Amino acid sequence: MHAEVIAIGDELTSGQRLDTNSRWMAAELGVLGIPVTFHTTVPDTLEAGIEAFRLAAGRADVVMVTGGLGPTADDLTRDVLAAVAGVPLDLSEEALATVESRFARRGAAMPESNRRQALFPRGSRIIPNPDGTAPGIDIDLDRAGGRCRVFALPGVPSEMKTMWSGTVEPALLGMMPGRATIVQRRIKCFGAGESAVESMLPDLVRRGRDPLVGITAHEATITLRIAARGRDEADCLAKIAPTAATIRECLGAIVYGVEDDEVEDATLTAVAATGGSVASVEIGTAGRVATLLAQAAARRATAGAFRGGLVLSQVDQVDPRALAERARSEFAAAVGLGVGAVRPAADGRQAVDIAIAAANGTTVTEHVLGGGPDLAASRAAKTALNLVRLHAAGRAGQEPLA
Ligand code: AMP
Ligand code: MG
Repeated sequence: MHAEVIAIGDELTSGQRLDTNSRWMAAELGVLGIPVTFHTTVPDTLEAGIEAFRLAAGRADVVMVTGGLGPTADDLTRDVLAAVAGVPLDLSEEALATVESRFARRGAAMPESNRRQALFPRGSRIIPNPDGTAPGIDIDLDRAGGRCRVFALPGVPSEMKTMWSGTVEPALLGMMPGRATIVQRRIKCFGAGESAVESMLPDLVRRGRDPLVGITAHEATITLRIAARGRDEADCLAKIAPTAATIRECLGAIVYGVEDDEVEDATLTAVAATGGSVASVEIGTAGRVATLLAQAAARRATAGAFRGGLVLSQVDQVDPRALAERARSEFAAAVGLGVGAVRPAADGRQAVDIAIAAANGTTVTEHVLGGGPDLAASRAAKTALNLVRLHAAGRAGQEPLA
């Protein structure tokens, strides 16, 4: 069984909005073990939609589509599907009642245009939308020698995701009786590049391996994905465990967390575990250190571990030690983090100095900036936070920080 993904919308083909739905759905299909062969993006026209569906239905067993299910005249997905299936659109009283009741709950009358959202190609099934007015459409399209099942969902990412897990995913699983379970776990790393991480792992990143290990990099954070196939979840987790243990052993303190953890989450968790706290004064990172710490503090039950942060403008060269010590004393924190101004470094490059002040003294580390201006500041901020994490975990200076 293989799938294709179609994204519908003028805002996508014109480049005004990034198509994140296709990426998300393709990744979810991958987790279910359904390979995705084509992604197609089309504007809000009947002709383009019909052509895209004819092609996709002729090739794939499953087509996932988002967009074009709204109430306005440019929302044409239901018309496109009816045309490709060669059937009329019928009004679903059940869907109409659902759309009307959504408006009634808000004390509003349903605009006439929303009636369109209760129209379904004859023979199709309704995909309930608990978060919005646009229901989805589940329809079979015949093709020479087979059948293609189409799941059409609204473009709004949050509604699409709820409908995916509520209806589409169970339906896809039902189409694959006796299929193996696939479980995926992520290990998050910071402090070494993608290829350096790969070279530290003994032949783990190899196609065909079970469990499969993959590496992706995003803003200097490296994610290792471990995906196992098995009879059930317990079987998969048992397969994942030794691979995860090998990865942790090989990478040491470069591993800072799992799943959706960010570096700043790990930093605050490590600081909180020591019973301490951290505060920052930064110049060369334009407020990113304080922002990341504040966000992590809001996400976790570690709010008390972040005392506060100051952002200074890049006017003077200030000794980074003084910044870290100021953070520590001004906010009465156990650890003060200081990031100095951007300054020239060797080979025509630029650097910032990162200082950590604690009860036993102050240390300074040079960080050479890399990547474009935005990426460079984000990397520098994460490097500073990672130094605090290593300091709190008592691992400072023990691991490579390339
Ligand atoms: P629609 O279902 O076409 O009315 O889309 C509703 C909204 O969802 C659009 O205005 C976009 O902001 C968003 N959207 C539509 N398609 C996508 C997509 N492929 N990726 C991310 N957002 C989307
Ligand atoms: Mg649209």
